[in-house]
Amino acid sequence: MSIRGSEVADGPPQAATAGSASLQSIDRYIRRASVLIARHEALLDRLDVALGDGDHGSNMGIGLRTVIRTLDETPPAARPTDAGTLLRQIGHGLVSSVGGASGPLYGTAFIEAGFYLADVARFDTATVAEAFEVAARALARRGRCSVGDKTILDALDPAARAIREAADRGEPLSVAMRLATGAAARGMRATTPLVARRGLALRLGERSRGHRDPGATSCFLLVLAMASDGRARRPT
Ligand SMILES: [Mg+2]
Repeated sequence: MSIRGSEVADGPPQAATAGSASLQSIDRYIRRASVLIARHEALLDRLDVALGDGDHGSNMGIGLRTVIRTLDETPPAARPTDAGTLLRQIGHGLVSSVGGASGPLYGTAFIEAGFYLADVARFDTATVAEAFEVAARALARRGRCSVGDKTILDALDPAARAIREAADRGEPLSVAMRLATGAAARGMRATTPLVARRGLALRLGERSRGHRDPGATSCFLLVLAMASDGRARRPT
């Protein structure tokens, strides 16, 4: 997978203050995420037919559209004025509008990342690394899952690690997010041979092997949306 440089130009600015620039970045991000998930709703539903109850794509699509409608319908005076508050608003929206287990899981991740971002002054690679780590820990705690359980975390955790490694090397955020997308994609693909240890797929036991996890796949798309302008790209 390759992401052209032009596609990351719209991403979060590196080393901008965590003020209006990062607020706008996150607003643009969640809209790209919604478009990308909508394009892959059928794929996510199909993956979920094998492992769950076949509605992961529909749930994510409906949930993200609801979140964006809520943002759009919020009167300007009541809209979040910082990135952390916006992330928390998105998180609460996901909790209440994404059906199934993934709403609370993704919602908790966004909410906790939002609490972290509220306290930071800079929006750079190290900040995003920390936000991803906070999100991954929150999701693991909420879902009581570990890497290798065949869940969302199998894409989120490697993405967080990739951003941290990039931050440690002093890479700009655009490079970090490209590496995170690759890591999330590898984590997503690596769920295929795993036996599920969480969620509805748990009941399948050995029969869960050979199917890619829909949650790890939607997580890859959410990371990809952060690194790109959201143009169609099959998560193959
Ligand atoms: Mg379901």
